[in-house]
Amino acid sequence: MGLFRLLTFILIAIVAWRMIKNYQRATAKKDSSSEKAKISVREKMVKCEICNIHLPKEEAIAGDINGDNDDSEYWFCSPEHKETFKLQDS
Ligand SMILES: [Zn+2]
Repeated sequence: MGLFRLLTFILIAIVAWRMIKNYQRATAKKDSSSEKAKISVREKMVKCEICNIHLPKEEAIAGDINGDNDDSEYWFCSPEHKETFKLQDS
């Protein structure tokens, strides 16, 4: 009966090993996807030029002071701060 017990032990070891591997793979997958989501959120964040608050780009107000220059793109949390920045610049 020694051989049967040995085979049973090996079978349990293989099943346990597979479970550990699957768990590790699932956790790694979960980590990378959540990390990706964090990065995409970070990319969408812009800073208000007046109060330095960070807010989502969709909620921010774009303000191009020079108008003709695409590189000079500023972001503001409110129309009031956009006006404040315009007044400071002139
Ligand atoms: Zn602001």
